[in-house]
Amino acid sequence: MGINAMSIEHTEGIVLKTYDYSDTSKIAVVFTKRFGKVKVIAKGARNQRSKMSAIVEPGSLVKMVFYMKPERELFQLSEAGLLDQFTAVRSDIEKFAYYMYILELVDSLFEHEEGDGCFFESLVSLIRAFSVSADAEMCVRAVEVAVLHALGHMLELTKCVECGREIPSALLTGAAYHAGGRVRFHENRKVFNYSFGHGGILCRSCAPAERNRAHCSHACAAAMAALLGADPGAVAALDPSFRQRAELKNILRKTLDFHLGKALKSLSFLDQVLVGRKP
Ligand SMILES: [Zn+2]
Repeated sequence: MGINAMSIEHTEGIVLKTYDYSDTSKIAVVFTKRFGKVKVIAKGARNQRSKMSAIVEPGSLVKMVFYMKPERELFQLSEAGLLDQFTAVRSDIEKFAYYMYILELVDSLFEHEEGDGCFFESLVSLIRAFSVSADAEMCVRAVEVAVLHALGHMLELTKCVECGREIPSALLTGAAYHAGGRVRFHENRKVFNYSFGHGGILCRSCAPAERNRAHCSHACAAAMAALLGADPGAVAALDPSFRQRAELKNILRKTLDFHLGKALKSLSFLDQVLVGRKP
């Protein structure tokens, strides 16, 4: 086989976004199980009667067949079938806003053909859990942690991210407790210094030299540790307080923004939806 050989590939994927291309075609950016993030052109998909147009929609889980060529960044989609549209998400404005954010986050942080099947599997299972969960917020925090972890930006909670000095594990385990089948976290004033640039805890000697840092309560660090590698069932059991959720959101936001280097469009929509919901 020559180096420019075209191959026919089958995979599953989550459609992250689509846009029109020419009068008749659509381009879709898809996070796939086998090839990470890829871009495909769906010829004829702008025709409303085309089967493709209903399938290749942002947020859909699809199986697809496409022609892959080395050194190319746009592949031709040959067939697509719908596996799941997550309809529960589309009928709930808050979940819909969160979902648009998840899709834009993955699209913005992964490069062409970056990402692996392991992350794909956890993304899909978190989206499934998110679509039916009463606590969409914590599922989204779990996606953020999974994204950072998949990209290697995360999350050093056992030793100083700068010098490697060990952080006593009892500080994290002691911050969590079980109550009524849920995992809760003690409110106290003890904080770590957290580097959102490096994605981890700093010891007292290293903290002053790091500009991109914030205080992070032991509860918040323990919640991050619990989200890291947690399956959707374990995420559902987490029950941080209102204040702890706000802190967790803030620390992860700062960490993600550090790597994004731009504002996400979906975030302003999400913020409007969430503000409208508050009592
Ligand atoms: Zn240190």
